[in-house]
Amino acid sequence: MRVAEVTIVGAGVVGLSCAVRLLEAGHDVRVYGRELPPHVTSAVAAAVWYPYLAEPRDRVTGWSAAALTEFTRLAGSGADGVAMTPGTEIFREPVDEPWWTSAVPEVRRVDEPRPGYAEGWSFVSPVIEMPVYLPWLLGRVRELGGTVEQRDVRSLTEFGGTVVNAPGLGARELVGDAAMEPVRGQVVYLEQVGLDRWWIDDSAIELGVTTYVVPRSRDIVVGGTEDHGAEDLAVDPATADAILERARALVPELAGARVLGHNVGLRPARPTVRLEREGDVIHCYGHGGAGVTLSWGCADEVAALV
Ligand SMILES: Cc1cc2nc3c(=O)[nH]c(=O)nc-3n(C[C@H](O)[C@H](O)[C@H](O)COP(=O)(O)OP(=O)(O)OC[C@H]3O[C@@H](n4cnc5c(N)ncnc54)[C@H](O)[C@@H]3O)c2cc1C
Repeated sequence: MRVAEVTIVGAGVVGLSCAVRLLEAGHDVRVYGRELPPHVTSAVAAAVWYPYLAEPRDRVTGWSAAALTEFTRLAGSGADGVAMTPGTEIFREPVDEPWWTSAVPEVRRVDEPRPGYAEGWSFVSPVIEMPVYLPWLLGRVRELGGTVEQRDVRSLTEFGGTVVNAPGLGARELVGDAAMEPVRGQVVYLEQVGLDRWWIDDSAIELGVTTYVVPRSRDIVVGGTEDHGAEDLAVDPATADAILERARALVPELAGARVLGHNVGLRPARPTVRLEREGDVIHCYGHGGAGVTLSWGCADEVAALV
């Protein structure tokens, strides 16, 4: 194999996962990010493995399946911040089997999973605790000999060799991609009160409302919102109250849990994820609400393209 000099633009979960795969394959890798973790959208992700707000479905299913296998392996091999966690996506009305279930080895249909809900689909999913996992991922890049530096990149032509373009929403300015759309998501952090299952209810998604409850080691992430085109990073108190009300209705165990904090992030959405080679540049961005879920699958494909 020919060793390539690879510059990765973007130090979120996508760029860093690509860096790990390329370093493992023996390439020379340097990563530049205008912002570094924890000041990236990836740090806001809840993050439960779940293919959400990302297309096209056939490629997303393949990338998700590969990432699920890798996260399962990482959870078993002591990587920081990855915990296999049972949970259920619930529906108010009966539904056909969700499209993504072929990516999951074992999914179980459940009748009346919660009062007021007709059915649910339960499986064991990795929950990736980003404030713990991103430092681990950064450490892995450096341990394998890669470098990660803060740098605002103005043009991909600044570099020789191969460039992996993984700037998330930054693709709007960096490569002028008008198809990129921010999708604002707000979350509330609650104290951990012994919850050990995640829940997702997307029944009201057409209203820009998604309800999810994701337990982590030290807290519980509850969300959320799906505001297309919104870019305000300020926490909206009324939205936080509504999120809490829905989450507590869904999971009554949260009733007494203290609020620890709030956060807002802009999902880097695109009609379809862009993962393709263009000359010496490999584009990998537009992962919407599933950048963590797709990370290792996309990184494998990027490594194959290099
Ligand atoms: C509230 C919320 C909850 C979420 N929950 C989940 C979940 O449960 N599961 C899941 O899979 N996903 C979830 N997501 C989605 C996930 O966070 C994103 O899909 C993912 O973070 C995208 O990763 P990325 O590396 O492409 O982008 P980012 O994390 O935004 O990283 C982009 C990097 O590129 C850099 N960059 C941009 N422009 C330039 C430039 N010109 N020069 C240099 N560097 C540049 C940035 O500084 C940054 O380092 C959630 C998102 C939000 C907001």
